[in-house]
Amino acid sequence: MKFKKAMDQETVIIECLRCGTKNRVPRSRIHDRPSCGQCHAPLSLEAFAIRPLETADGTFARDVLAAAEPVLVFFYSPSCPYCRMLSPVIDQLAVKFEGAALIARLNTTVNPVVSAQYGIQGVPTLLLFREGKLLKRMVGVQSGDEIERGLKGIIKLS
Ligand SMILES: [Zn+2]
Repeated sequence: MKFKKAMDQETVIIECLRCGTKNRVPRSRIHDRPSCGQCHAPLSLEAFAIRPLETADGTFARDVLAAAEPVLVFFYSPSCPYCRMLSPVIDQLAVKFEGAALIARLNTTVNPVVSAQYGIQGVPTLLLFREGKLLKRMVGVQSGDEIERGLKGIIKLS
């Protein structure tokens, strides 16, 4: 969460894996295959480690409802096999949507308040919020493509 806060700025800092130079990259250019200013090696977004934000009953209002950007929340349970299948897809979306939307996760088994508030009947369920309002509910999605189609027209990808 500390990490996410640092990214709420115009630029991000990505350390070059080859020479160690800390490169300042504008958020808007993060998907343009940025390279190191010093040695010109491609900068790895994996090293930058964009991950879904783990939210919870206690932080949901701040993390999701008060967020400046749209937020897609992945409601999951650790014991659900479909959630485990979808989890790496959600991780990839966090990288892909960086700058356009925030991707968050909520473990329904330990966060019953938010789950009940939004009537989560089963997992995985994806809810999209913007400016504190629930815009879209997706139940039973299986692929990143399906999720992206569902978000079309709501979230603009660069
Ligand atoms: Zn370098």
